[in-house]
Amino acid sequence: MAEFSVVEMAMRQIDRGAEALKLSENQIRLLKCSKRILRTTFPVEMDDGTIRLFTGFRCQYSDIRGPTKGGVRYHPNVSEEEVIALAAWMTWKCALVDLPYGGAKGGVICDPLKLSERELEHITRRFTAEIMPILGPDKDIPAPDVFTTSKTMAWMMDTFSMFAGYTEPAVVTGKPEVLGGSKGRKEATGRGVAIITREFYRAQGKKLDGCTVIIQGFGNVGSHAALFLSLMGAKIIAVSDQNTGLIDKNGLNIQELMNCTDRNRCLEPYIGATHTKPDDIFDVKADILIPAALENQIRKDNADSFQVGAIVEGANGPVTPDADEILEQKGIHVIPDILANAGGVIVSHYEWAQALSGLYWEETEVNEKLEKKLVSSFNEVWRRSQNLKIPLRTAAYVVAIARILEVYKYRGIFP
Ligand code: GLU
Repeated sequence: MAEFSVVEMAMRQIDRGAEALKLSENQIRLLKCSKRILRTTFPVEMDDGTIRLFTGFRCQYSDIRGPTKGGVRYHPNVSEEEVIALAAWMTWKCALVDLPYGGAKGGVICDPLKLSERELEHITRRFTAEIMPILGPDKDIPAPDVFTTSKTMAWMMDTFSMFAGYTEPAVVTGKPEVLGGSKGRKEATGRGVAIITREFYRAQGKKLDGCTVIIQGFGNVGSHAALFLSLMGAKIIAVSDQNTGLIDKNGLNIQELMNCTDRNRCLEPYIGATHTKPDDIFDVKADILIPAALENQIRKDNADSFQVGAIVEGANGPVTPDADEILEQKGIHVIPDILANAGGVIVSHYEWAQALSGLYWEETEVNEKLEKKLVSSFNEVWRRSQNLKIPLRTAAYVVAIARILEVYKYRGIFP
């Protein structure tokens, strides 16, 4: 049972940042204002001819710093609450890494693993048509999230373009490269998780070489984080997906695991490691744990049992505020989501800029810019955390909040 709703979680995190900055009630009210949410229920004809109703949401939490930006997820647990919390986190993430964006998130309640490609396409196209009035390259720009891919973005881009009457590549990011997708976008979130982990080690005068890592979730973020961390010399000793845990104390072969999930969409058929229940990987002792699945995974009821040195949040909202306090007491550092997984939206910004200008960049240029931005963002958060003697999450909120309030200072409150 969740101890908090996800929105309460996001608001508690804001409160801790606000406390460190000694903000007024008025300022806190501005930060806690969720601007707009569109809820839509629509029919889709399934492959067997039955008509099913699907419900989806798009929340635009804040556009004070620019057009709203954030992913669209397909999952049975999508809810209005969840989408609002995720849109709030996008707002703070974009402010933290200083992108000219506000924050948004969307989702459709469905189980994509039980839908055919044609059904997914129809859901995507109809959902896009429903949220069309609030979409656009200067309004709101979707991207992939849990169980959505570059293919989903291609359908969204095409649907938007059909209604607009012209081709608009800048309306979504995370597209296939032939449609104007950026080189390096697919790997960007996982690459960012690895870079931030490396910087966290470097800041403490330590090296990643030989350190042990557990990763919960082997989707786009988890698998690429595993790949880049193993290339940096870390040893990935346990991973999991929805149904399977895999443990190998000598280190898993990440490329083989990726080949397995490419072929089968799951880890289950993989031979060559000990198979367990997914949550059993949480019992493994390691230097680093990367939750890269969903929110609410490390809670008051299990936070005490982890035997890891640090937690790097690949997913959005995997650690609850109560768990944060327990981990703090245990001396386990948490590198917050809005920093650790910001690599995805950073390269989304590059993709949007490329589409708007019509000039496309080499992959080395994308990766160099990403690396530079992440390293400077990490250093800023680390400095705040050291100077103010606050946890990294609170420090990240302090940086993000200050940037948002600075914009309010100049823009004022309309009218
Ligand atoms: N869904 C990703 C996130 O949570 C990426 C969002 C984007 O690129 O707009 O950060």
